[in-house]
Parts: sequence; structure tokens; C-alpha cells
Amino acid sequence: MGNPNGSCWWCLKAIKWIPVIFILTIVFWSYYAYVVQLCYYTIDSYVQKAFYLFFFHILFLLFLWSYWQTVFTELVGVPDKFKIPATEMENLLHAESDEAQRQVLERFAQDLPVTNRTIKGAIRFCEKCVLIKPDRAHHCSVCGTCVLKMDHHCPWVNNCVGFHNYKFFMLFLAYALLYCVYIAATSLQYFIRFWKVNTMDDYEFADKYQCQQQPEKATILTKERFFRQGELEGMGRFHLLFLFFVALMFAVSLTSLFLYHCYLILHNRSTLEAFRPPMFRTGKDKDGFSLGKYNNFQEVFGDDSRLWFLPIFTSLGNGVIFPVRSQHQGGPNTYDSMGSTQNSFGDGVTFPERLCDEDTHTLLGSAAQRWPDETEFDSPGLSGSRSSAPLS
Ligand SMILES: [Zn+2]
Ligand SMILES: [Zn+2]
Repeated sequence: MGNPNGSCWWCLKAIKWIPVIFILTIVFWSYYAYVVQLCYYTIDSYVQKAFYLFFFHILFLLFLWSYWQTVFTELVGVPDKFKIPATEMENLLHAESDEAQRQVLERFAQDLPVTNRTIKGAIRFCEKCVLIKPDRAHHCSVCGTCVLKMDHHCPWVNNCVGFHNYKFFMLFLAYALLYCVYIAATSLQYFIRFWKVNTMDDYEFADKYQCQQQPEKATILTKERFFRQGELEGMGRFHLLFLFFVALMFAVSLTSLFLYHCYLILHNRSTLEAFRPPMFRTGKDKDGFSLGKYNNFQEVFGDDSRLWFLPIFTSLGNGVIFPVRSQHQGGPNTYDSMGSTQNSFGDGVTFPERLCDEDTHTLLGSAAQRWPDETEFDSPGLSGSRSSAPLS
């Protein structure tokens, strides 16, 4: 992450906030355009104004609250018991072969609740944080730390999306989508009305009308004044046209991302796991953590339905131990992590054994020192390229 005292480090830190500032600018502009330009200046009916503004503000607050929580939730670090002490690190560094390194890690991790393995079947180890990675944790190269149940690093929230803010991220997507759909739906008729522009015909009609109806004020509506009014209305029209376009554009983009994450939640997969299934003792299994759709949903949203739709942390578990299907339980260093949901898994998914391929790394001293179960997914560029949606 560089030197925290260097000016470059601070520049990078500031640049990372640009997408968040961009989102907030659009959100606050949309607030102005909707509340002032649409509701205050354009809509005549007081009942309609009140109705529009009431639901708008509910969605606006829920959306901003969820966004705030996603952005500012602190990443909780990996518990100390996973950190490798200096003596073990010495053993690792001085191990003569990959097999010896592997045994050092196995010995150290024998009392740790880990079921995930590298593609070669070894204990997962982060050489940057010097720790055994808990199940579903991955190292984020942007944040420079291992993140519990890492989903992806999202530049739009300048934060990692992981165990502690995944619910907030989902609600952020949901409320952002609802916010956009609501704005697009309620501004549609005004969008169509304002599409028509003032023309000379309009002026002549207005002039003629005023001369007939209010001859004493006929001089007030000069040609100049008429078109100046048109210009002012033109600014309002600009806001309303863009409000509709921007809301529609974001709604379309958010729909695909939101539905994709709904799918992931129901199958109990993170974005990283969707691209590379987690590895267990018995092999890769993309559904290794899946306990059935309702249990999967509860694992993220909690078991109190009154709090499901509020950005308050209610996810089940501690981010370190996750219930796994029975096939992956047992073994010398695996906790029985199913708990009360031990018998609740099973939606008829088979467990195909896959060959361990594409793995060429060694534990520590290889030339590349890459950890394939991580590094391909850590860069924000890759994270962004995985989805065509603007918010990833
Ligand atoms: Zn790490
Ligand atoms: Zn990150």
C-alpha cells in the first residue's frame, strides 16, 4: 500500500474517493431536480406533490443510509489466532521443500476452523498478512488486507464488500434500483410534456390570447419576455429530461447487478466463489456452503424479518466459521460448523469431482509468488470487468 506518510499515498487515497463523490453528486443533483424542479415548479396538484415527495424521501433516506453503511463499515480483521507467529514463520521460510512448508502450515492450522484449501489441497496462507486464511477470506490488494468472506472490492463504495457489509451492499443495490425506477416512473409524463419546445407559433398564440383576454396588460408579454421565460423553463426542462434519462440508465444497469447478487445469495456464493468455486478436502464445490435457499438468505439477512430491509447488521455467524455441507465436514482440522442447521442443507445438487488444474504455484518461494485462489480476483480492474454494470 506504500508509505502512509508519503504524498503519493495520500494522493492515491484521495483519488479512490472520486467514484464515491461522483455517486453522491448525482444523488444530490437528482434530489434537487426531483424535489425543486419536478415537485415544486412543475406539479400543480398539492395532493400529488405530497404523495410524490413522501415516497421519494423514504426511498432517498433508505438508499443513502445503505450506501453510507456500505462505504463506512470498517473491515474487521482476521482473528489473531490465524496469525502465524514469528517462530512458525521462521520454520516456513527455512523449510526445504514445498512439502515441508505444507506440513508446517498443516501443523499450525490443525486447531483452526478451516475447511477451504488451495487448488493443490494445501492450507490457504496469505504471505502479505502472514496468516492462515479463514474459509471464504481473500486478500484484497486494494485494501492491503485479508477480508472475511470477501465478495469483491467495489470502487464505487471505496471499500471491500465482504462479510460485514454484504447485507448493506445488497440493500444499497435494491434501494438504488427502487429509487431510480420510482423517479423514472413518476417523471415520465413530465418528460414527455417537456419534450415539446416553445416555438414562434407558441409566442404568436400566447400574444394573441393575452391581447384578447387582458388587453390592459398586452404590452407586458413582449416577444423578448416570452422567450426569456422559455429559457428559464428550458433549464427546468433540462433538469427533468436528464433526471428521467439518468434514472432510466442507472435502473437498467442496476437491474442486472441486483439480480446477479440475488442469485449469488440464494446459492450462498460470493462473487469470487462464482468465478472460482471454493476448494474443499474432497475437491472443488461451488455449492459447498449452500444450505438451501431460505437458509442461504438468512445467513446474509439474519433471522429477524423486521430487520431484513434495514441496513443494520444482522448477518448470521462471525465471518470466520461457515456452515458447510456434510461432505466437507470432518478431518483433522475442521470444526463441525453446521451447528443447528446441520440437517437443513440439501437442494439436490451433485458434487462433481473436478481435476485440480491450472495450479502451478508453490507455497512460499516460487518465482512468481502468486496465490492463484486470490490474485486473479484482487485487482479493481478485474472486479470491474466482471460485470458490465456501472456499480460492481
Ligand atoms: Zn492478506
Ligand atoms: Zn478491498
